[in-house]
Amino acid sequence: MSFYPARLGGRCMKAVFGVIFLAFVLAGCSGRFVEFAASNRIDASPDRGGFGVTFFGTSTLLVDDGDTQILIDGFVTRKRHNFIRRIEPSEPQIQEAIAAHRICPAPGRTAVRSRPDHCANNPKRGLALVIPAHAHYDHALDSAYFAAWAGTRLVADPSIVATFDATRARPWKTPMHWQSVEFIPPFASPDRNTRRLRVGNFTVTLIRSHHLENPLSQLAGRETSRDLSLPAHLWEFGEGTTLAIRIERGGRSILIVPSAGLPVEPLEAGEYRSDVVFMGIGGLGWKPLAERESYWNSLITATGARRVVPIHWDNDQAELSTVEANFRPSPALRLDATLKVFERLAERDNVELAVAPPRKRFDPFNGL
Ligand SMILES: [Zn+2]
Repeated sequence: MSFYPARLGGRCMKAVFGVIFLAFVLAGCSGRFVEFAASNRIDASPDRGGFGVTFFGTSTLLVDDGDTQILIDGFVTRKRHNFIRRIEPSEPQIQEAIAAHRICPAPGRTAVRSRPDHCANNPKRGLALVIPAHAHYDHALDSAYFAAWAGTRLVADPSIVATFDATRARPWKTPMHWQSVEFIPPFASPDRNTRRLRVGNFTVTLIRSHHLENPLSQLAGRETSRDLSLPAHLWEFGEGTTLAIRIERGGRSILIVPSAGLPVEPLEAGEYRSDVVFMGIGGLGWKPLAERESYWNSLITATGARRVVPIHWDNDQAELSTVEANFRPSPALRLDATLKVFERLAERDNVELAVAPPRKRFDPFNGL
């Protein structure tokens, strides 16, 4: 079924989308946020051991201690006009990310015989887990590809499995290890809201969470169809199970909240103590002030965080390989409105508000 009324021609549709885009740009001022992102950035750290994080835009993060690599989302396929075109994983863009960030196949998987040169010196190094924060395209489009390329574990509810099957059905130039992928259900049963996993020296806790209500998520629906085939329109990727993720190593911890929604069970104060919160802000600028404040207050109270790193604020159509100084903000997110509230609350709570460097490994606890 076509999304568009048949009587609207291509030129007319472009005009309609142009007007909608212009309205977003005018309404979604982000000039102050751009200045803020340029002058409040965490320094990149040299590539060495310890708790390292690399930010790829949206909420894709690579956590890497030199041996164990954990990929949150793994969305790197950027395509212009993705709202009106069908999308699927871009093998060149994924392979560029693998090479640039020295991502390696899962350690100890004998089925994966060929290791790229950047992995040859350390047989223990590798991608041990892929965690799509939920099944929408801007989180999970490339998750299955990454997991099958690495032959590793994939946190997968039925929507992620549907995307996995659709990805598997496509032809890929690179050798893939579909049989080696181990699915990890997000929770042991429907009435459980957390799951703890040991991954190398990291302890990972998956936390069932809400997704921010917005028109796109309603358009996409709750689940991805088992009949999904690629390429597909972005609203064919349902939400599935939405997660926040806490990752701890050596007594230091981060909490990643990709979807600007709180955990379904209110977190007790200190229950998920975290030094740093990677706080999704996509769509938050359109929410009432009280909702923005409550989101911040709940997460800071529960974690006692001393640093907040906003994520999911960039334009997801700009190819990552073209990003140099910083990501471009999405024109539709009213980032200045969110920043204004967050700056006030950060000062009140004595929390640092800082932006992650684009595509460079950094120590999230640096200076704390
Ligand atoms: Zn989403």
